[in-house]
Amino acid sequence: MSELIKRILRGKNILEKLKELKGKVLVVSMEIPWKGVEKYISWKPTQILWAQEMEVSIIDGIVKNLVDFDWVVGIGGGVSCDFAKYISWQKNIPLILVPTIVSVDAPFTPSIAVRENNVVRYVGNIVPENIFIDYRIIKDAPEHLNRAGVADLLSIHTALWDWKCSADHNNERYDEQIAIEAEQCLVIIDNMAEEIYNVTPKGIDTIVDLYCKEVELCNIFGNARPEEGSEHIVAYHVEYLTKRQFLHGDLVGFGIFSMARLQENKVEWITDLLKRCGVSYRVDGLSKDEVSRTLLELKKFKDEMGLFFSVIDVKEISNNFVDSVLYELNLI
Ligand SMILES: [Zn+2]
Repeated sequence: MSELIKRILRGKNILEKLKELKGKVLVVSMEIPWKGVEKYISWKPTQILWAQEMEVSIIDGIVKNLVDFDWVVGIGGGVSCDFAKYISWQKNIPLILVPTIVSVDAPFTPSIAVRENNVVRYVGNIVPENIFIDYRIIKDAPEHLNRAGVADLLSIHTALWDWKCSADHNNERYDEQIAIEAEQCLVIIDNMAEEIYNVTPKGIDTIVDLYCKEVELCNIFGNARPEEGSEHIVAYHVEYLTKRQFLHGDLVGFGIFSMARLQENKVEWITDLLKRCGVSYRVDGLSKDEVSRTLLELKKFKDEMGLFFSVIDVKEISNNFVDSVLYELNLI
């Protein structure tokens, strides 16, 4: 069992345990998740800080002006948890995380996603004292947000192909055993797709346990190679091009869908699995032109940002390829 799994407390009334925290408690949250949690608890934090986008120049100013606290508790989705992780890391305050949705792996990863000029960068290394998983609260969140969470695990499918490709063509360090174990996560998701789609306690547990497994594998290897490949480059490029925020899981889903095609990597199986889990890889609000530009300018973006080696370096993204993606997404 991984170290992280031992720190996870699960149950229906688990949030009442937070009442036992001694000293000054800073809650980092957003309006909707805080409202969702507040009705279930009988305690009040010393202060609530509303989380916002993680642009580093802005959050540094906020963190600098914070007084001292004994605990920081992040309640919400990826941004709330990342902001709480950042404060805990910068101020050296013990951390508790309460994910109210399982939409991204942020509550479970030691690194913190920040943005610099709208490009994601990872900083820090922080492990929470506890992670509270309250099935009732997670079930209250919109279903599509919870379903999107599995994308940060299905990314293993395209990431492993990229990793092997980089080992073969770019001499990158490769670990066969870790790759095999990561691939087993995909088999589990395949078996549990219906539970994940229906956001049952079993489905939530599957996602949470596999996040922990994934974090453990990445820790052993030393970076996120086993789960982060070209599909994440696609996600970052969409945000960079459009300057709009999307659901991370949807973008990663689109990345998995399009990069698996470029890799010619079990396309039907992974597309079907994305659908069965309910990941909206068609990304609501992303236009035909934006999809085209994302793919056609992907190599240029990757080179300019100095991102890692992947299928993008060995296979050309042609107009024909883009047309086939647009066709499959019903955009032409
Ligand atoms: Zn991700």
